[in-house]
Amino acid sequence: MAYSYEAPVSQSLFDRASVVTPGGVNSPVRAFRAVGGTPRFMVSGTGPYLTDADGREYVDLVCSWGPMILGHSHPEVVAAVQEAVTRGTSFGTPGEGEVALAEEIVARIEPVEQVRLVSSGTEATMSAIRLARGFTGRAKVVKFAGCYHGHVDALLAAAGSGLATFGLPDTPGVTGATAGDTVVLPYNDLDAVRAAFAAHPGEIACVITEASPGNMGVVPPADGFNAGLKELCAAHGALYISDEVMTGFRTSKAGWYGVDGVRPDLMTFGKVMGGGFPAAAFGGRGDVMAHLAPAGPVYQAGTLSGNPVATAAGLAQLRLLDDAAYAKIDAVSAELRTLVGDALTKEGVAHTVSAASNMFSVFFTDRPVRNYDDAKQQDVFRFTAFFHAMLARGVYLPPSAFESWFVSTAHDERAVERIAAALPAAARAAAEATA
Ligand code: PLP
Repeated sequence: MAYSYEAPVSQSLFDRASVVTPGGVNSPVRAFRAVGGTPRFMVSGTGPYLTDADGREYVDLVCSWGPMILGHSHPEVVAAVQEAVTRGTSFGTPGEGEVALAEEIVARIEPVEQVRLVSSGTEATMSAIRLARGFTGRAKVVKFAGCYHGHVDALLAAAGSGLATFGLPDTPGVTGATAGDTVVLPYNDLDAVRAAFAAHPGEIACVITEASPGNMGVVPPADGFNAGLKELCAAHGALYISDEVMTGFRTSKAGWYGVDGVRPDLMTFGKVMGGGFPAAAFGGRGDVMAHLAPAGPVYQAGTLSGNPVATAAGLAQLRLLDDAAYAKIDAVSAELRTLVGDALTKEGVAHTVSAASNMFSVFFTDRPVRNYDDAKQQDVFRFTAFFHAMLARGVYLPPSAFESWFVSTAHDERAVERIAAALPAAARAAAEATA
């Protein structure tokens, strides 16, 4: 595919990066390999906009893959960071900021009685499954195809996000022994979960699921699916782990738990709670968390865990996320979903706009998408054409058909108008695309 616009400064940065960094990026999906073309090197962000190294401005519908729920450079978050930085950047001791952030999480999310702060979502899920194994004395972990829980060895089997983008079934470097303790099941299929418990009696430590998946595109749980998982886990002595790294503090004040009310044993968080800094967490039932060192025997630690700058940013962001903020994000998301759907319908492009609260994505198929296999049936080549047409008109979408789109409180009328103006040509490009 030929691209009718240039990004020479980004291209030269990418050339430099490719010499010193594998694939030129520090996280695979950023490389644009699924859509082709030059990844944009961003130099600044303000509100709903990003500016790249060539001086072009984009309306940002990625929001750093979720965290920037107040938009970029929110003045109150920036002020909190500046204030924290002047006091020092890391102490390696406890500090009040960590306590305040933990209190905010516990106050918002009722099933979380205790929480441990870490630095990435990957660390959170890795630690949560270690804790589940330590608590239950069992080895096996059930996960669902298309769900991504970070690059934890045991959870990379049939994962979504970058692995979905690149069509990787799993990855070299994960040993057979590690993968052998992971049971991968189709999403939204309770019968498969029942069968797994029957096939491995007394062996399953936990079922981990994205609270509402966003890493195979947005595929919400069917009615009763999460409740069914919880019930089956309880019946078989396994823990139900809800991964809210993406949905936490985004899909409502209390994340997806605030939407479906199903009470997990353990939960994981990241993205929004760090305010754009590396902060994440896992938490849940007090009796389970009591097994964690130094209270209990399951070891887990981190030099930068509860970092004072990251916790200040996260706390400032969470404190601004009140009911009015969520109402605003929900409204912008609904407006954009309608605009995108209408534009594609007008051009006769088969599509499904799939939403979970304010998270959404577009599948280029009109067949129902209930799991990863369904998601893979879409016409990815149409997404590619749509993506580049939007990019050329100053709208930055996730560079993959298998990722959620994100909006923020900063996405105002002007930003929505710019997206609306780009849509007709992008829908036409999708209609005219060939495989
Ligand atoms: N869990 C989910 C649901 C995610 O979406 C992600 C990242 O996209 C992770 C875990 C891993 O988080 P991190 O990239 O911070 O390691």
